[in-house]
Amino acid sequence: MTDDAQRWKSKYLESLEQQEKLERRWDARLDLLRRGLVRSSLAAEGSDKSVDQCMQELRDILRRDDIDAGLSGLIPRLEKAVLDSEKRRQDRVEQNISGVTSLTDQLLALEPPREVRKALKQFAKRIEERASQPRELPALLSELSSLQQQALAALDDEATQARPGFLQRLFGGKDAAPVSSADSEPATADDAPPVVPVPNAVAQPEPLAQAVEPMLKASSEAAAVVAPVTPNPAPTPSLAAVTSIVAVTPVSAMPAQASGDPAYALPEIPEPGYSAVGPHIGDSLMGLLDELDLPERHRPQGEVLRQRVQGGLNWYELVSVLDDLAVLVLAVTDSGQREFASYLKQLNERLASFLSTLSEAHEGYSESAESARTFNQELRDQVSGLQASVQDAVDLPTLKQSLEARLDGLLSTVSEHQKQRDGHEEAVAQRLQSLTQKVADMEQEAQSFRDHLEEQRQKALIDPLTGLPNRAGWSERLELEMARWKRYGGELLLAVLDIDHFKRINDGYGHLAGDKVLKIIAGELAKRLRKTDFIARFGGEEFVLLIPSTPLEGGHQLLQTLLDGVEQCPFHFRGERVTITLSAGLTAFASGEDSDKVFERADQALYRAKSGGRNRVELN
Ligand code: GH3
Ligand code: MG
Ligand code: MG
Repeated sequence: MTDDAQRWKSKYLESLEQQEKLERRWDARLDLLRRGLVRSSLAAEGSDKSVDQCMQELRDILRRDDIDAGLSGLIPRLEKAVLDSEKRRQDRVEQNISGVTSLTDQLLALEPPREVRKALKQFAKRIEERASQPRELPALLSELSSLQQQALAALDDEATQARPGFLQRLFGGKDAAPVSSADSEPATADDAPPVVPVPNAVAQPEPLAQAVEPMLKASSEAAAVVAPVTPNPAPTPSLAAVTSIVAVTPVSAMPAQASGDPAYALPEIPEPGYSAVGPHIGDSLMGLLDELDLPERHRPQGEVLRQRVQGGLNWYELVSVLDDLAVLVLAVTDSGQREFASYLKQLNERLASFLSTLSEAHEGYSESAESARTFNQELRDQVSGLQASVQDAVDLPTLKQSLEARLDGLLSTVSEHQKQRDGHEEAVAQRLQSLTQKVADMEQEAQSFRDHLEEQRQKALIDPLTGLPNRAGWSERLELEMARWKRYGGELLLAVLDIDHFKRINDGYGHLAGDKVLKIIAGELAKRLRKTDFIARFGGEEFVLLIPSTPLEGGHQLLQTLLDGVEQCPFHFRGERVTITLSAGLTAFASGEDSDKVFERADQALYRAKSGGRNRVELN
């Protein structure tokens, strides 16, 4: 072997050894990586279902020899699962933050003593930072729970110690001096009705604890997730309620005791806390779920929801249950539309069969025309055969014989034709009969669909609380009245009415009373209008009015009558008169304007009526 060859050989052996070394190192690294990955995948487990599944697959792949192909398929999926899981984690963090923040706000709204308020505010500042770390949550919640206890205990103390001024401000009372406007809670706005003494000859002062109880209850239930408090359904308005009763009631010419018309009595039923109404809400939701005729594919969701409701709901679970229920209701609506679509399809098929019956009838007619022609031809043949027989006859007997034969033929042709025609007519009559039946069925079905649609449409245009047309009903009528006005001209007025300080009615006497007031006021307004006028509930405590063929001054008078009528309504609560007023803005349509512009003008006038002191009509 030459020197050169010897050198090449040792070089080759050297690089072979190098290669083997590298391969061993690579195997060791790979082994290390595999073990590392398996351990990390085990450590990451439990945070998210889809990530867990990817991790399980990862371990399976790592145990195989050919990991390249497996990994290249898995890694993109793992990446997506991790990103999704991170997004879900973020959402959960945000929910935690907003939940804890809203609980803290509710506690702050109770106006606890200064030191508790301060602690709560400090706590609030760090919610975002702390709630985003899962391991901080238990400490965060236990801190909130202790703050809540302090806030509620302080309120409880305040209630039992009941300062006399406070008591007086709340209830007046036999011995107490009448409440003066200077002395009253500053809950009223500058432009609120004047706060004047409320005669309290009948209203007995009630224990303050009882008055504060519903408020404690509401707050404790709002925070029930942290520390539930036993509810106490005391039939007394809340602290805020009582102060606003004083504010809402201008008592100029008010009788000291207004036992009054029960129709105008504001219900005394206290606003129940969630725990008191929870089972009822549960029952109503179950009833609703029973009523829902769910399409097949949504039944499992319905079942899950049913189980959630049956298991009892906390107030904070309500929102998600209602969201899920909304999805199901939409699914039912959707299936209603499907049903309608399938009805249209059926109708189409029936029309097709109707057409085919018609064309069969037409074919039948062509056939019968054809058979009439054949009959005619046969008759001609028979008659010309008869003629030929007469001409060819040599004597009487042969003539008689051939005549008889011909006449027999003629008669049988006629009777055969008669039979055919009878059969044909019967078939046509049957076809006609079935066609008539089909048309009648179709008409009946179409009519019941039309009725159903109209019924649904009408329902959708009415506000269920007041029975007045709702916003959709308003839009429909507005379009109609505008078209009429553009065509015939004349006057068309638009007014917007809004109940004054309605929030105080809700706060003072509860939502049930608020609803009753809305209902009664709607009736009071509607009964004072002409048939041609149109009133709708625009939303909340706002009403809109269209007054055709009336000059602005006449409209002004009408609105003043409406406002006076409502102000005179003898609403009362526990023997005390409650006066409720409205403000209104009125404007006239001018040519070339669209309804939005007119509405905006009326709304501006309403705004002026509010800022000018309320209980008045402003024109614009
Ligand atoms: P203003 O004199 O400025 O109009 O004061 P307001 O309190 O009437 O007006 P605001 O818009 O502050 O409050 C309206 C309230 O009406 C708030 C809302 O809770 C209540 N409300 C809206 N719809 C209904 C309802 O259907 N029933 C009940 N009970 N209250 C409602
Ligand atoms: Mg209002
Ligand atoms: Mg309003």
